[in-house]
Amino acid sequence: MASPLLVNVAELLRRVGSVREIDRQIEADFFKFDDSRIITGSQVDVALTLEALTDGIVVHGTLGAQWGFECRRCLKALTGRAEVEVQELYQAVISDPDAYPITGEQLDLLEMARENVLLAVPLAPLCRADCPGLCPQCGADLQVDRCSCTRAERDDRWAALDSLNFESRVDEA
Ligand SMILES: [Zn+2]
Ligand SMILES: [Zn+2]
Repeated sequence: MASPLLVNVAELLRRVGSVREIDRQIEADFFKFDDSRIITGSQVDVALTLEALTDGIVVHGTLGAQWGFECRRCLKALTGRAEVEVQELYQAVISDPDAYPITGEQLDLLEMARENVLLAVPLAPLCRADCPGLCPQCGADLQVDRCSCTRAERDDRWAALDSLNFESRVDEA
């Protein structure tokens, strides 16, 4: 399947300083993110400027993608938009180790966009920094519901800790 972000840069390569704008919405499926954080069927916004340099083409602009997943503590469904500023170099003859290739008179923005979008999506999402999560005993969402087993659970934990302390004291003696 041809990349929807394959760009013919023959014009650009002819004159240093010439620019070309790429402004497209591409289905997320094309990027093969293979990452459950990216919402299947959503659109990735690609707004990039290509600019010809003496030794390559610099690509800069923004990428935007919709993400969705569950809070890792309370499992609430979260969605959001990741937006990332990019500045990347493409070269026909690679002299910069971070450069992407220009092949023939074409460059493909797809892999570059894919890598940058994945870096911009949050890694370990929480609905809020201090999300208390679910009660490990009854499963109640502690953010909205103070269940009755919370206190008992805490007491048990202290009891376990107390006995540990006691044992270590015994060992030292
Ligand atoms: Zn949460
Ligand atoms: Zn509970």
